[in-house]
Amino acid sequence: MIKKFSYNEYRKIILKYKKIIKDFSKINKFTKTFCLIRHDIEFSIDRALRMAKIDNSLGIKSSFFVQVKSDCYNAFSDENIKKLKQIIKLKHYIGLHFYVSNLKKKDSIVQVELKKQIKILELALGRKIDRLSIHRPPKWILSKKNSIFKPYINTYSNLYFEFKKNPTEIKYYADSNHRWNYGHPIDVNKFKKFQILLHPDEWSQKGMSEKENLISLIKEEKLNFISSLDKEYKTFKKYFKKRK
Ligand SMILES: [Zn+2]
Repeated sequence: MIKKFSYNEYRKIILKYKKIIKDFSKINKFTKTFCLIRHDIEFSIDRALRMAKIDNSLGIKSSFFVQVKSDCYNAFSDENIKKLKQIIKLKHYIGLHFYVSNLKKKDSIVQVELKKQIKILELALGRKIDRLSIHRPPKWILSKKNSIFKPYINTYSNLYFEFKKNPTEIKYYADSNHRWNYGHPIDVNKFKKFQILLHPDEWSQKGMSEKENLISLIKEEKLNFISSLDKEYKTFKKYFKKRK
């Protein structure tokens, strides 16, 4: 039995669709069949890198979306920039995980903020960013015309996503909150076009329950914090023994 949210289960999903996995940039309104793999990084760049390695070993290219306003990780630390560059080296795409929760519902405000966040990521990575996914997209932003996000690829544009409760053409799968609220991608589906949103934070080698996974995310972050303290604070060792 394959454990839920284990890397083995993830591999099974990818292998099921491998032949039709395409990149966002290759899709146009005439494309008849596609499976888009999108990774939104919410909490851990380490876990994103692990996923990027798996995708590479399975011979696929996918997209990883990074937040620049996260309270959970600093995408711009030397360590994290190195990891993001490793993801690029594995032939994947990096995009912006666009944070909009604080924005007023006005096109011009969204556009200015988008340019700002894209620029920050471009400067940090030293390369152009061509795509974005919206973090926790509110309805008002999903109903916006795609033109406001131009020239960037917006993963929620109607080429890749149908803004309906019951889509007729493009199916959407998402593992948000450790559950598949729109169905599981392994189950039979009648769609020829679909997008699978994955959060690397939810997945692990052994496959954990929601609670176990949260505990392990906290533990990983704590270890990172301890090692940063140890690195930056001369007398840290005096009070805390090194632990792994
Ligand atoms: Zn998100």
